[in-house]
Amino acid sequence: MSEDAIRRFLREAAEEIGEQWVETASDTVEMYAASELPSGNICPAGIVFPGDADEVSSIVRLASRCQVPIHPISTGKNLGLGAAVAPRPGVILLDLGRRMNRILEFDPVLRYVVVEPGVTYEALHEFLVDQGDTLMCDTTSGPPSGSPLGNTLDKGGGYTPGADHFGNCCGIEAVLGDGRILRTGDGAVSGSKTWHLSRYGLGPVMDGLFLQSNFGVVTRMGIWLMRRPDIIESFFFMYPNDDDIGDITDIGRELRLDGVVPTAIKATSDLYALSSQIPYPAGVSTGPIPQEVRRELHREHDLGAWVVSGAIYGSNTNHVRSTLQHVKNRLQIRSDVKYVPHGEAAERPELKIHIDTYSGRPTGEEVAMTNWRGGGIVSLTPATPMIGDVAKSHARMSRAILTEHGIDTCIDYIFAGRVARGLHSILFDPTNGAECERVASAAQQLRAAYRDVGYPVGRVPVDGQEDEMSHRDRVFRDVASNVKAVFDPGGVLSPGRYGIDVPTSMD
Ligand SMILES: Cc1cc2nc3c(=O)[nH]c(=O)nc-3n(C[C@H](O)[C@H](O)[C@H](O)COP(=O)(O)OP(=O)(O)OC[C@H]3O[C@@H](n4cnc5c(N)ncnc54)[C@H](O)[C@@H]3O)c2cc1C
Repeated sequence: MSEDAIRRFLREAAEEIGEQWVETASDTVEMYAASELPSGNICPAGIVFPGDADEVSSIVRLASRCQVPIHPISTGKNLGLGAAVAPRPGVILLDLGRRMNRILEFDPVLRYVVVEPGVTYEALHEFLVDQGDTLMCDTTSGPPSGSPLGNTLDKGGGYTPGADHFGNCCGIEAVLGDGRILRTGDGAVSGSKTWHLSRYGLGPVMDGLFLQSNFGVVTRMGIWLMRRPDIIESFFFMYPNDDDIGDITDIGRELRLDGVVPTAIKATSDLYALSSQIPYPAGVSTGPIPQEVRRELHREHDLGAWVVSGAIYGSNTNHVRSTLQHVKNRLQIRSDVKYVPHGEAAERPELKIHIDTYSGRPTGEEVAMTNWRGGGIVSLTPATPMIGDVAKSHARMSRAILTEHGIDTCIDYIFAGRVARGLHSILFDPTNGAECERVASAAQQLRAAYRDVGYPVGRVPVDGQEDEMSHRDRVFRDVASNVKAVFDPGGVLSPGRYGIDVPTSMD
C-alpha cells in the first residue's frame, strides 16, 4: 500500500465522517500501537472512529477504492492476544467502540440485549443493575472495559451457564469488504421480529463465519441473558500438589456433566492466583519461582498448588446446602485438601475474582496480573479433555516447557464438562529482549506440543496466528481463503488475521 493511497484515504475519510473522527496524531497512534506481546508494537497508519453501520460501510468502500487495509476493533482490550494491534503494520484501525457504544434493544421478558461493538462488560452490567439486577450476562475475568461483541468474535468464553459466548449470541449485522451490509438469520427479512430470538433462520447459518476471521466488520449483535439466581454460593478447595490436577479433573467432569455445578469449575494454579495480588517475590531475579518459594507462598497466603472453585445456584437454601454438601463429599478427597467457604472467600480479593465471574459481575482485579513482570502477557488456550491422566500429563508438559524457558507456570483450567479451557498466561518483562525471545519460543513450543499430542490451541495471539493456521490442512485453509474472496474480494479487511488472506494467483 502506498503512502499516497493512505493520504487519500485519510483525506476522504475525514470528508465522509468528519475530520474529528480521523486521527493520525503520533501520541494517539503510539497508544494504539502498544502490544503486550513479545513481538512488540505494531504501528497503524491512523485511526478512524465511525458512528454507525452506514459510516462503517462508506469507510470500507473507501478503503476498497484506495486499496488501503483496515482492521476493526471493538474496544481493543484483547490483552494477552494483541490488544488493539493489527496482524500487520501500516493499516488503518477502525475503532468502533469510541462512538458505536449503544445498547440498541433490551427485552426483559425474552431476556436479550442487542449491542453495538463499544458496549463494554462494565456498561452492560451497570445497565442491567439499573434495570433491577434480575438478569445477568456472562462476563470474562479480563478487563471490564472489554466488550461482549469483540470477545465473542475472538471466540472468548466465561464462567456462568452463559460461558459459551458464541452459543449465547443471536443475530449479527456485518459490513462486508465491498461495503454491503449483511444481516444473518432472520435479520435478512425486513421487519423480522425474530432476528435476535431464533439462531438459525432460513438457509446457511452465517454468524460463525465472523469469528476469528476477517470476513466482515460486525456492527451489531444480539446476546441472550440469564435470570440472576437468588442464591449464588461459591466453594473453594485448596489442593496442595501439582499432580492433584488429575483427581480434580476426574471429579470436576462428573460434577459438570451430571449438572450438579451449573457454573464452570476452575482449577487455578497458585501463581496465576497470586500474580494479580502480590509483587513478584523479592530475590527471584528470573523465573521460574523455585518450588520451596512456592510452598512458602502457599503457607503465607493460605493457598494450594491449585485453587479449585465453582458456584451453586438456587432459590432455596436447603437445596443449595445439600448440593454444596454433595460437592464437598466429592472434592474433599483427603484431609490435606482445605475447604474455604463462600463467606471467607468473599473477603479474599484473589478468591472474590472467581465469585464475581460466577455471578456475571465484571471485575478489574485479575487484570493486575499483567503488571507482575512489567506488562508483558501472552495467553494460550489449549483444550484439555476432562480425563484426569491426560490433564496431569498436559499440566506436566506445560510446566516442563515453561520451566525450561525460565518462565513461571500460571494456568487456569476452566472445566466445561468434556473439555477444559487450559488458559496459560505467560507473564514477562517486555523491556527485556532476552526474556521476550524466551517467551516467544516457549509460546511456539507450547502450541507445537499441544498440536503434537492432538489438542491444538484454539485462540492464538496475533503474532502466532499465521503460523498456527499454517498447520491446518490445505482444504481448510483454501476454503477460508475462498470465503474471504467472496466476502472481501479486495482483501482490505484485517489482512492476515488468523492467517487468512485472499488467494493470490500463485495459490
Ligand atoms: C487477566 C485477563 C483475564 C482475561 N480473561 C478472559 C476470559 O475470562 N475470557 C476471555 O474470553 N478472554 C479473557 N481475556 C482476554 C481479553 O481481555 C478479552 O477477551 C477482551 O474482552 C477482548 O477485548 P475486546 O472485547 O475489547 O475485543 P477487541 O480487542 O476489540 O477485539 C478482539 C478481536 O476481535 C476482532 N474484532 C473486534 N471487534 C470486531 C468487529 N466489530 N468486527 C470484526 N472484528 C472485530 C478484532 O480485530 C480483534 O482481533 C483476559 C485477559 C486478561 C489480561
